[in-house]
Amino acid sequence: MPEVLVVGAGPVGLALAADLRTRGVDVDIVDRRPAVGGGTRAIGIHSPALTLLEASGATDAIRSRAVRIGRGEARADGRVLAEIRFDRLRARHPYVAALPQSETLAVLTALAPPVRHGVHVTALREGRAGVHAVTAAGESVRADAVVVASGWSGRELVYRPGAVRTHHYPDRYAMADVEASGGPIARVHLERGGVVESFPLPDGRRRLVAWAGTREIPDADTFLRDAVAARTGVEVDITGASTFGIRRAVAPTLRRGRVVVVGDAAHEVSPIGGQGMNLGLLDALTLAPLLAPWVRRGDDAGLARWERDRLASARHAARLAVLNTLLGRAATPAAHRARSAALRAVLRGAGGAAFTRAYAMRLDRAARGT
Ligand SMILES: Cc1cc2nc3c(=O)[nH]c(=O)nc-3n(C[C@H](O)[C@H](O)[C@H](O)COP(=O)(O)OP(=O)(O)OC[C@H]3O[C@@H](n4cnc5c(N)ncnc54)[C@H](O)[C@@H]3O)c2cc1C
Repeated sequence: MPEVLVVGAGPVGLALAADLRTRGVDVDIVDRRPAVGGGTRAIGIHSPALTLLEASGATDAIRSRAVRIGRGEARADGRVLAEIRFDRLRARHPYVAALPQSETLAVLTALAPPVRHGVHVTALREGRAGVHAVTAAGESVRADAVVVASGWSGRELVYRPGAVRTHHYPDRYAMADVEASGGPIARVHLERGGVVESFPLPDGRRRLVAWAGTREIPDADTFLRDAVAARTGVEVDITGASTFGIRRAVAPTLRRGRVVVVGDAAHEVSPIGGQGMNLGLLDALTLAPLLAPWVRRGDDAGLARWERDRLASARHAARLAVLNTLLGRAATPAAHRARSAALRAVLRGAGGAAFTRAYAMRLDRAARGT
């Protein structure tokens, strides 16, 4: 029987399993998918997560594959409203490491214990001898404690339907990772027609995201190409674009007996602002040192505080994501002028430093000392 069973081998479950393995904890990890998830979603890893990933050895491998973003620009109407200087932060890693999520998963998979793929956990039952994870194949896997890192879709393993209040936004976005010039600078164009984000990736590619209104768009490639050209003046060939919508949800608790929840299973924030995976990594990497004393000696002293801190950080990130969502919508000419003027005033003053710290997750409670 493993000491800890991790359900879900997304970035958060893998990071936890890799860290626990380094600490000598006997850990198993399962995932319902037949193989490691493909595609690319989260691209930016901030200093607090990079610092905490050092323990498992993941940080060097991530840094060697990533583009380091030291600087960002908020732009409107062809002008820079304000610069965002990650390279001036007092942080151990004063940059955002940008790489496709598939690369992050590859790094973490190499460090975690082997994932048992194709294992779909359908229920968790707690007894005196630990927690039983029941699988779709009828198997029962027993562990001293279970950490649910199943993302949004596995939330019902822990929470009753309706227990996690969820706000669904009407906004849609188009997104693609494409070859494009632009250097290692992140650009957020807050335009009248809606936001366009352009973030550097390795190998001369960039992540482009454009606000697409509130209706489903029939042809994401054409929409994204036209939106980027119309709003920023940059012509790019787009293939393979996809669309996504956004939700906001923060669970009321992260623990039920010997079951703990981390990552998107417990909280989901809009990708506009790019903090969801980082929040989950910080959940996992601050939980890891508390798990061994808990499962071995029943010492759960730090867990209540961990839960309070992680819920507070998730609520904070969710509020920031709401602001990003509102700022990214289309506006009338007058509202757009007012928005640009207000942003210039705020971001060029003391608000600029506060915004940079918030965006770089320096306000997360796990960021202390990172
Ligand atoms: C377009 C987009 C862009 C984003 N960009 C960023 C970004 O730049 N920065 C950032 O920090 N975040 C970003 N995010 C958010 C980020 O992708 C998520 O927060 C992150 O993937 C959550 O990781 P997770 O491991 O908690 O869950 P997931 O990645 O969802 O992984 C959960 C895993 O659990 C498995 N699973 C589910 N249910 C079960 C079950 N019952 N039994 C067994 N296995 C199960 C799944 O198969 C999956 O492999 C973005 C999201 C989107 C949609």
